[in-house]
Amino acid sequence: MKKVMIVTGGSRGIGAATARLAAKAGYAVCISYVNSEAAAAEIVREMTAAGAEAIAFQADVSVEADVTRLFEHVDRTLGPVTALVNNAGMLETQMRVDQMDAARLSRVFNVNVIGSFLCAREAVRRMSTRHGGQGGAIVNVSSIASRLGSPNEYVDYAAAKGAVDTFTTGLAKEVAPEGIRVNAVRPGVIYTDIHASGGEPGRVDRVKASVPMLRGGQPEEVAQAILWLLSDEASYTTGTFLDVTGGR
Ligand code: NAP
Repeated sequence: MKKVMIVTGGSRGIGAATARLAAKAGYAVCISYVNSEAAAAEIVREMTAAGAEAIAFQADVSVEADVTRLFEHVDRTLGPVTALVNNAGMLETQMRVDQMDAARLSRVFNVNVIGSFLCAREAVRRMSTRHGGQGGAIVNVSSIASRLGSPNEYVDYAAAKGAVDTFTTGLAKEVAPEGIRVNAVRPGVIYTDIHASGGEPGRVDRVKASVPMLRGGQPEEVAQAILWLLSDEASYTTGTFLDVTGGR
């Protein structure tokens, strides 16, 4: 069976690292992005140079029609998806809960939670033996924030990742008899641009002293965990969580 991976939010950070590793591991890869067209094109160029079949597609995971178009495009160009990395995620400026308005809460939950549901739905429709598929694997990129709560920073984001954890548990059980494994990684503090969107680009260096390993993580270290969970080496692993946090 041809290995076809979709990595949502593959233009930067953990998603880009995952896509690069997947290309080297023999997957045909589609990365999605919202704004970073040039960065996505560069990642595709790198994957193609490494000998992989690779494409990029613009799709906001919180927009149902975009998600449908993404999966249909992959059907036509690479073939049906066999591995989904629900990586696209975002957070907003650090603030207390008593400052948050409904518009912000909707954006955070729409992208992190509903986006993951919509992409998984499309993947299950293609992978599940119940729908005539041949099985597959899904990895949700949650966060250790789901267990820590992110007080004074972004409790909304942490709660959204808590929902992603519960979604992982439920979907894993729902589709386990249909040939699909569903797992999650929970990264700790990783050097990517996401901290700048919270208003603190240097956040990893501020908090790294509280990490037992005394350093932040690199996107590639998370990507390795994702690739393992998707691989046949993890064939009896479903509904579980791999914390990639340096012990945090
Ligand atoms: P990042 O560097 O900010 O990259 C985010 C990626 O997601 C970009 O490719 C971005 O596309 C894409 N994206 C954002 N909103 C999207 C939407 N609505 N639809 C589709 N794509 C969207 O973030 P990162 O740190 O690599 O984070 C990746 C995942 O890891 C997220 O789920 C995040 O919550 C999780 N995580 C990160 C950390 C950390 O410390 N970095 C820790 C725990 C969990 P554009 O480039 O087009 O904007």
